[in-house]
Amino acid sequence: MVETREVGRAERVPVAPEQRLRSAGLRVTAPRLAVLDVVAEYPHADVATVLERTRERAHDVSVQGVYDVLTALTRAGLLRRLQPGHSVARYELETGDNHHHVVCRSCQSIIDVPCTTGQPPCLDTSHPEAAGFVVDEAEVIFWGMCPDCREHGAGDHTSLQTTQKSTEKKEQV
Ligand SMILES: [Zn+2]
Ligand SMILES: [Zn+2]
Ligand SMILES: [Zn+2]
Repeated sequence: MVETREVGRAERVPVAPEQRLRSAGLRVTAPRLAVLDVVAEYPHADVATVLERTRERAHDVSVQGVYDVLTALTRAGLLRRLQPGHSVARYELETGDNHHHVVCRSCQSIIDVPCTTGQPPCLDTSHPEAAGFVVDEAEVIFWGMCPDCREHGAGDHTSLQTTQKSTEKKEQV
């Protein structure tokens, strides 16, 4: 009779996408299901990936249609949108755990990390500076260099500049 469920992971127990939509008060449609499916499969997917993969699954949906779905699902609290620095917007399923992100400056890879202090949202409101605030969310991004990039010496100045340039190019598309 031992409860083996990991503490703090309870929110991540998968809920069927249809159920997620209904409980958010949204109609179940093929494009919405496809987007939820894609984001579940590619956590922190950028918009280009979501567009491409969604249209592979729901052939009739337009580009604008996918954008509309992303907006609706984010607004309904089913998706969490993040935009590290000047990079493109990325999406993940909203798990309600208010986890934070570590982003590699070189390859832009993103990993999830739990709160740094105690319980979400990461701020001790007994600090005099925060007195009187009711805080419900922390948007924290840690920047650094991932193990792969460190190993391959991507930390030098030139490669950083190249990465930034290619990110800018992507944004203009
Ligand atoms: Zn990296
Ligand atoms: Zn995340
Ligand atoms: Zn935190």
